[in-house]
Amino acid sequence: MTGQRRVILRVLSEATDHPDADQVFRRAAKIDPKISMATVYRTVHMLEQADIVDRHDFGGDRARYERHPEQHHDHLIDVRTGKVIEFTNPQIEELQQRVAQELGFHLVGHRLELYAVPLRDTAKHRVAPPKPAPASRHKRTR
Ligand SMILES: [Zn+2]
Repeated sequence: MTGQRRVILRVLSEATDHPDADQVFRRAAKIDPKISMATVYRTVHMLEQADIVDRHDFGGDRARYERHPEQHHDHLIDVRTGKVIEFTNPQIEELQQRVAQELGFHLVGHRLELYAVPLRDTAKHRVAPPKPAPASRHKRTR
Protein backbone atom coordinates (compact mmCIF):
# COMPACT_ATOMS: atom_id res chain seq x y z
CA MET A 1 0.00 0.00 0.00
CA THR A 2 1.36 3.42 -0.92
CA GLY A 3 1.74 6.21 1.62
CA GLN A 4 -1.27 8.06 0.24
CA ARG A 5 -3.48 5.01 0.47
CA ARG A 6 -2.31 4.49 4.01
CA VAL A 7 -3.29 8.07 4.88
CA ILE A 8 -6.76 7.57 3.42
CA LEU A 9 -7.22 4.33 5.34
CA ARG A 10 -6.07 6.06 8.51
CA VAL A 11 -8.64 8.84 7.98
CA LEU A 12 -11.38 6.23 7.55
CA SER A 13 -10.21 4.22 10.56
CA GLU A 14 -10.27 7.29 12.79
CA ALA A 15 -13.61 8.64 11.54
CA THR A 16 -16.70 8.07 13.68
CA ASP A 17 -19.13 10.01 11.48
CA HIS A 18 -19.35 7.94 8.26
CA PRO A 19 -17.79 10.66 6.04
CA ASP A 20 -18.44 11.11 2.33
CA ALA A 21 -15.58 11.15 -0.20
CA ASP A 22 -15.28 14.93 0.03
CA GLN A 23 -14.81 14.83 3.79
CA VAL A 24 -12.31 12.00 3.46
CA PHE A 25 -10.40 14.10 0.91
CA ARG A 26 -10.29 17.17 3.16
CA ARG A 27 -9.09 15.18 6.16
CA ALA A 28 -6.52 13.28 4.11
CA ALA A 29 -5.23 16.48 2.48
CA LYS A 30 -4.51 17.91 5.93
CA ILE A 31 -2.11 15.02 6.53
CA ASP A 32 -0.72 14.90 2.98
CA PRO A 33 -1.53 17.98 0.84
CA LYS A 34 -0.47 16.11 -2.32
CA ILE A 35 -3.43 13.76 -2.13
CA SER A 36 -5.95 14.37 -4.91
CA MET A 37 -9.68 13.76 -5.02
CA ALA A 38 -9.07 11.17 -7.76
CA THR A 39 -6.74 9.25 -5.43
CA VAL A 40 -9.40 9.33 -2.72
CA TYR A 41 -12.03 7.93 -5.08
CA ARG A 42 -9.71 5.25 -6.41
CA THR A 43 -8.46 4.21 -2.97
CA VAL A 44 -11.88 4.15 -1.34
CA HIS A 45 -13.13 2.01 -4.23
CA MET A 46 -10.21 -0.37 -3.85
CA LEU A 47 -10.70 -0.62 -0.07
CA GLU A 48 -14.37 -1.28 -0.64
CA GLN A 49 -13.62 -4.10 -3.10
CA ALA A 50 -11.27 -5.61 -0.51
CA ASP A 51 -13.99 -5.43 2.19
CA ILE A 52 -11.81 -3.18 4.30
CA VAL A 53 -14.23 -0.28 3.94
CA ASP A 54 -18.03 -0.28 3.74
CA ARG A 55 -19.89 2.03 1.43
CA HIS A 56 -23.30 3.22 2.56
CA ASP A 57 -26.14 4.87 0.76
CA PHE A 58 -27.86 6.80 3.51
CA GLY A 59 -30.27 8.60 1.21
CA GLY A 60 -28.28 11.77 0.55
CA ASP A 61 -26.73 12.29 -2.86
CA ARG A 62 -23.31 11.13 -1.69
CA ALA A 63 -22.09 7.71 -0.64
CA ARG A 64 -20.75 7.53 2.90
CA TYR A 65 -17.89 5.38 4.08
CA GLU A 66 -16.69 3.63 7.19
CA ARG A 67 -13.96 1.17 8.07
CA HIS A 68 -15.56 -2.26 8.06
CA PRO A 69 -16.43 -2.74 11.74
CA GLU A 70 -15.31 -5.76 13.74
CA GLN A 71 -18.69 -5.86 15.43
CA HIS A 72 -21.81 -5.67 13.28
CA HIS A 73 -24.06 -2.67 13.78
CA ASP A 74 -27.01 -1.04 12.08
CA HIS A 75 -27.64 2.65 11.43
CA LEU A 76 -30.27 5.24 12.25
CA ILE A 77 -30.06 8.32 10.05
CA ASP A 78 -31.40 11.67 11.22
CA VAL A 79 -32.87 12.85 7.91
CA ARG A 80 -32.74 16.51 8.95
CA THR A 81 -29.07 16.67 9.79
CA GLY A 82 -27.65 13.58 8.12
CA LYS A 83 -26.25 12.49 11.48
CA VAL A 84 -25.76 8.74 11.70
CA ILE A 85 -26.29 6.81 14.94
CA GLU A 86 -25.02 3.25 15.25
CA PHE A 87 -27.00 0.65 17.13
CA THR A 88 -27.48 -3.08 17.54
CA ASN A 89 -30.62 -4.78 18.71
CA PRO A 90 -30.51 -8.51 19.49
CA GLN A 91 -34.24 -8.90 18.88
CA ILE A 92 -33.99 -7.38 15.40
CA GLU A 93 -30.99 -9.59 14.61
CA GLU A 94 -32.91 -12.68 15.69
CA LEU A 95 -36.06 -11.64 13.86
CA GLN A 96 -34.15 -11.23 10.60
CA GLN A 97 -32.69 -14.72 10.97
CA ARG A 98 -36.15 -16.09 11.54
CA VAL A 99 -37.64 -14.27 8.52
CA ALA A 100 -34.93 -15.69 6.27
CA GLN A 101 -35.42 -19.17 7.70
CA GLU A 102 -39.15 -19.02 7.21
CA LEU A 103 -38.51 -18.15 3.58
CA GLY A 104 -36.22 -21.16 3.31
CA PHE A 105 -32.90 -19.31 3.55
CA HIS A 106 -29.91 -19.18 5.78
CA LEU A 107 -29.11 -15.54 6.49
CA VAL A 108 -25.55 -14.55 5.60
CA GLY A 109 -25.82 -10.79 5.98
CA HIS A 110 -28.12 -7.81 6.10
CA ARG A 111 -28.29 -4.06 6.05
CA LEU A 112 -30.74 -2.11 8.12
CA GLU A 113 -31.13 1.64 7.96
CA LEU A 114 -33.71 3.59 9.92
CA TYR A 115 -34.56 7.05 8.61
CA ALA A 116 -35.86 9.24 11.40
CA VAL A 117 -36.40 12.70 12.88
CA PRO A 118 -35.84 13.48 16.56
CA LEU A 119 -39.00 12.91 18.64
CA ARG A 120 -38.67 16.31 20.30
CA ASP A 121 -38.82 18.01 16.87
CA THR A 122 -42.05 16.31 15.83
CA ALA A 123 -43.66 17.09 19.22
CA LYS A 124 -42.59 20.72 19.43
CA HIS A 125 -43.36 21.80 15.89
CA ARG A 126 -46.14 19.34 15.20
CA VAL A 127 -44.68 18.51 11.84
CA ALA A 128 -45.20 15.33 9.93
CA PRO A 129 -42.01 13.35 9.59
CA PRO A 130 -40.61 13.59 6.07
CA LYS A 131 -41.19 10.59 3.84
CA PRO A 132 -38.28 8.16 3.82
CA ALA A 133 -37.62 8.60 0.13
CA PRO A 134 -34.35 6.68 0.03
CA ALA A 135 -35.93 3.44 1.21
CA SER A 136 -37.53 2.71 -2.14
CA ARG A 137 -34.17 2.61 -3.84
CA HIS A 138 -33.01 -0.11 -1.47
CA LYS A 139 -36.13 -2.15 -1.96
CA ARG A 140 -35.50 -2.40 -5.68
CA THR A 141 -31.87 -3.42 -5.45
CA ARG A 142 -31.90 -5.66 -2.39
ZN1 LIG B 1 -21.50 2.50 11.10
